[in-house]
Amino acid sequence: MTVLVTGGAGYIGSHVVRLLVERGDEVLVVDDFSTGIENRVEDLPIVSLDLAASDAEDRLVAAIEEHSVDSIIHFAAKKQVGESVEQPLMYYRQNIGGLTNVLAAVERTGVESLVFSSSAATYGMPDVEMVAEDLDCRPINPYGETKLIGEWMIDNAITAAKMRGTAFKAVKLRYFNVAGAGWPELADTAVMNLIPIVLERVATGKAPIIFGDDYATPDGTCIRDYVHVKDLAEAHIASLDYMKSEEPAETVFNVGTGKGASVKEVIDAIAEATDREIVPEMGERRAGDPPALVADVSRISAQLSWKAEYGLTEIVRSAVDAAGMSSTGK
Ligand code: UDP
Repeated sequence: MTVLVTGGAGYIGSHVVRLLVERGDEVLVVDDFSTGIENRVEDLPIVSLDLAASDAEDRLVAAIEEHSVDSIIHFAAKKQVGESVEQPLMYYRQNIGGLTNVLAAVERTGVESLVFSSSAATYGMPDVEMVAEDLDCRPINPYGETKLIGEWMIDNAITAAKMRGTAFKAVKLRYFNVAGAGWPELADTAVMNLIPIVLERVATGKAPIIFGDDYATPDGTCIRDYVHVKDLAEAHIASLDYMKSEEPAETVFNVGTGKGASVKEVIDAIAEATDREIVPEMGERRAGDPPALVADVSRISAQLSWKAEYGLTEIVRSAVDAAGMSSTGK
């Protein structure tokens, strides 16, 4: 039996592919290589496919049948908040259109389980610091909307499968701030998030910019829950196993560490790991940034027995090592 991984050549997808291969699962990668990198998944069967294309459903069905796929992990999606505000239709087309084709192929072939990449962006701007899964979701940008709508689509597909008497289970994982590298060659090459941005600025001799230091947090900078990409990848494996062994009692899970770190603390950790003095510049607040967003991880730990193994120091160190910026002797 085979696991089909859409977006398997991406940063997070390729970490999951690596863990699946390590444990002996057969893997089929589907990727359009718009941001995915082929080197990350060489040696594996690959279908090069834009999931939102008009022939995507038929091509997925053919690939699922050819490779006897029984589970899908669906990563392939657009994920830049700012871009989603500028080009909302592209986000609806790719993320919702892509998932529609995946679910249609599931329906036609009888794939039994699906893991969906969701996001803490589904919560929007919650007024609590620790967010649990049953909090009201009020996304504040098209990207977050596509993830929440994706969750609804999956819930409806589960209901419809039950009505047809077909076995179909799904788990939706709401990622918090994913960072680090489990293997240097799988590191995040996009410079879109705090840690890669700071590393790039330091490498090019520029001061990192802190987007606001007047928030109501202990040091005034925003707090986020940074989770190591390898821990996150393990959460997908735990989700597949959870669906194999029982009827899921819950289908949506936060994936974080349950601990927050401020922007200043992240920059300090980078200074430590690179053994460089980093003097950040203070910038304006960035629109749409909640002051603090930390995962309540009680549900995932109770149901999936999953817990993050790594903390901020290891996350930053792995990112610094992958960027070739670690201080000598460390
Ligand atoms: N941030 C910052 N400077 C940067 C990039 C990000 O101060 O150059 C802050 C950002 O305002 C947020 C945190 O770092 O509070 C994490 O931002 P990121 O874009 O990585 O993830 P988000 O939490 O927005 O999904």
